[in-house]
Amino acid sequence: MGQDQTKQQIEKGLKLYQSNETEKALQVWTKVLEKTSDPGGKFRVLGCLITAHSEMGKYKEMLKYALAQIDTAREMEDPDYLTEGYLNLARSNEKLCEFHKTISDCKTCLNMQGTTVSLQLNGQVCLSMGNAFLGLSVFQKALESYEKALRYAHNNDDKMLECRVCCSLGNIYIQLKDYEKALFFPCKAAELVNDYGKSWSLKYRAMSQYHMSVAYRKLERLPDAMECCEESMKIALQHGDRPLQALCLLNFADIHRCRNDIEKAFPRYESAMCIMTEIGNRLGQAQIFLGVAKCWLLHKDYPKALESLQRAEELAEGIGNKLCMLKVHCLSEGIFRSLGQQEELREQVVKFLQCVEELELYCGMCGESIGEKDQQLQALPCSHIFHLKCLQTNGTKGCPKCCRSSMKPGFV
Ligand SMILES: [Zn+2]
Ligand SMILES: [Zn+2]
Repeated sequence: MGQDQTKQQIEKGLKLYQSNETEKALQVWTKVLEKTSDPGGKFRVLGCLITAHSEMGKYKEMLKYALAQIDTAREMEDPDYLTEGYLNLARSNEKLCEFHKTISDCKTCLNMQGTTVSLQLNGQVCLSMGNAFLGLSVFQKALESYEKALRYAHNNDDKMLECRVCCSLGNIYIQLKDYEKALFFPCKAAELVNDYGKSWSLKYRAMSQYHMSVAYRKLERLPDAMECCEESMKIALQHGDRPLQALCLLNFADIHRCRNDIEKAFPRYESAMCIMTEIGNRLGQAQIFLGVAKCWLLHKDYPKALESLQRAEELAEGIGNKLCMLKVHCLSEGIFRSLGQQEELREQVVKFLQCVEELELYCGMCGESIGEKDQQLQALPCSHIFHLKCLQTNGTKGCPKCCRSSMKPGFV
């Protein structure tokens, strides 16, 4: 199969894929991959296969195709293709919760000496890197990466990238418990979809609705949370987007739990768990176990709650997600206190304090904690995070922590 025919067949696959005939599209592309003699075409068709498998949640296949892309790029000795290959590898590892690998792949991308083409990918690289740091609960570096990604998005007028970064920012502020910002950023993403997204894939709309829903739930606006989550789920079902379906199911379960309706919560946690296991989202699985544990706590069933917490801890430890471990120790502490088991209680307190220290979740001005309750936060351009109210009393110029100048608040 020569260059022209390869190109035609790739286009044919794309048309099928866009009209939701995914299986047929995959058949066409796989055939191109076997038959083509054009390395550039091979690279492109691998890219199509990567996108499709990513959306289906088939991350191991995605990883395999990313590695094939890197091999092809090496044969062609093309630095731009090589950067793109590594970006796809980073994304595959991110989806598989291999966050340390993601960070190292991203660094490889950023160190590559490509042309302006690969420089345009830098924004996406920074986004993936930010997501990986967030997966490891390294909040400051995550913010720093998101800030860079946003700058690339603005400089290149890349609204899709901006939309994705806004969703990730929503996610980080959920974890830091600044729920006002956690809602602001996905709302911004939804606005971008409305203003510019007529030709975009509906998944952008679905993504922003999902992140809005989580923020609404945290703000205890449960009917709004339900509405956004239903909208997101509808699109995820239409598109066969398994990863988003899993997230929506988890969020539905959490909404029902917030309403103290654990009869409705449990089956949704179970459905979410099926998909999370199928796609290999271990962080999602850990979050489900946390939710299930909280349900058992509502019933004061301590043994079952502890069992769930242990599963969450194993997963979180494997991934390296410190925030999830902190939550496990915090909840376990409460249980052992209620049970009057002093020795176990002490062990959990020690582990909890260790997590707090490692997470460095405190305000550089007042020294009080960040992320313990809903409080407005402000990150400076250096990405140091403070209570908004503390910064407002600061008066002087420069960051109180690292003394870098410019008090102009960053994008985040
Ligand atoms: Zn403070
Ligand atoms: Zn600073």
